[in-house]
Amino acid sequence: MHVRIRCRAGTKHTCPKCGTSCPGYDSLERSWRHLDTCQFQTILVADVPRVKCPEHGVHQIHMPWSAPGSRFTALMEALVIDWLKEASISAGARMLHLSWDEVDGRLLSVGCAIEARSGQSASVSTRPRFRSATNT
Ligand SMILES: [Zn+2]
Repeated sequence: MHVRIRCRAGTKHTCPKCGTSCPGYDSLERSWRHLDTCQFQTILVADVPRVKCPEHGVHQIHMPWSAPGSRFTALMEALVIDWLKEASISAGARMLHLSWDEVDGRLLSVGCAIEARSGQSASVSTRPRFRSATNT
């Protein structure tokens, strides 16, 4: 299931670097894996605007449902993390219909975000909490 998201015409956007209101530049289509809907895999699709900041140049704005650069919505990331608190990477990937690399990559990304916020090492703050797994 694909869910198309569109900005309302005339929506004002801001530079993700400085928060200044900026004119639109263009948009790029992106997609994010979201929580399943009635057991159907759900993908959010949007044309993400880019703005042209006089100080920082052209940047894609941040979407409120996802971390910058993530291929998952925040809700899907939370579900992945919840699964990994209870099961191995392989089991979580199998139950969520994701590849081992997608789950492991998501973990590393979240670990890096935690590291950036707390100043702790991702390998120390997140990795040891999860069970070891094999790449199957
Ligand atoms: Zn700026």
